[in-house]
Amino acid sequence: MTPFFRKKKDIPLGLWMKCPDCSKMVFTKTFEQNQNVCPECGFHIRLTAEHRIQLLVDEGSFEELASDLEPRDVLHFNDRESYEAKLKRNQAKSGSTEAVRGGRALLDGRPVNICAMDFGFMGGSMGVVVGERIAIVAEDALERRVPLVVIATSGGARMHEGALSLMQMAKTSAVIAKLREAHVPYITVLADPCTGGVSASFAAQGDVTLAEPGALIGFAGPRVIQGTIKRTLPEGFQRSEFLVDKGYVDRIVPRKKLKEEIATILDYLLPREVIEETPPEETPPEETATERVGGEPAPEEPASEEPASQATGEAVITPAAKTDADGESKNDVAKEDQANDVRST
Ligand SMILES: [Zn+2]
Repeated sequence: MTPFFRKKKDIPLGLWMKCPDCSKMVFTKTFEQNQNVCPECGFHIRLTAEHRIQLLVDEGSFEELASDLEPRDVLHFNDRESYEAKLKRNQAKSGSTEAVRGGRALLDGRPVNICAMDFGFMGGSMGVVVGERIAIVAEDALERRVPLVVIATSGGARMHEGALSLMQMAKTSAVIAKLREAHVPYITVLADPCTGGVSASFAAQGDVTLAEPGALIGFAGPRVIQGTIKRTLPEGFQRSEFLVDKGYVDRIVPRKKLKEEIATILDYLLPREVIEETPPEETPPEETATERVGGEPAPEEPASEEPASQATGEAVITPAAKTDADGESKNDVAKEDQANDVRST
């Protein structure tokens, strides 16, 4: 017998997704094309370490460091599940061996060392290997004298490793201090959530601290604080927008602009002499020779680079200077034309 009502059409799994923040249904592909940011409300979904690195570095430039270091259950820790079993389960789920990955890369053509944490791997908790990987990548940045960029997201220290995990706060902080002494730039990007021992160590020590919009950033979570002080917390407490107001975060950068923004900051932070090393734009040698005034003989070898650039420093009228000299009236005409255009629209 045919049923009275029509059977619902099967919707393939994963074709649509519900934004965790605004609850609107969004086409999964649209979400992904938007770097996993909700096109409706701008909510930034958590990403894996691999995905974060992929979004920031130039294609094919990432060279992972310390990937052979893997966590071990040295304390034989058991809660509902043994630490060893938990590690295996998280490794299988995430396809990564630890909650952080790092290495050498190019960011918009600039050499950097980069580390990215993964909250999906045991809450991004910091155990011995997380601390060690960050320390190794930072030491390498120090040795190569290239900037270090760290994307930090974590629930804090990894309790399964007891005091050993707390020691990572000191270890990572010590390496960051060495970077500072050597004037090697260090930029942190705080992603949701960034709390506990990570927020209290290397994540808070950047020369520039950036944050993704709406990220929860703090040492203890708001519920714990509210329970302790028995007072209602202000609206937006511990979110990026609240913390940029208080000066804890320097700048909130949407994921889409992160690469561009970090590149600009690196240009500001890099030592002066490195910027000056880039060759200045040179006037073509033939033009310098023909425009030369004062009857001075042209250099014998105008094709060679050095005499030509020296000549531009002397009494030479370059084509650009020429237009400056008689360009005033032309500019006025252009301005008037522009004004007319504006009026006509
Ligand atoms: Zn949304």
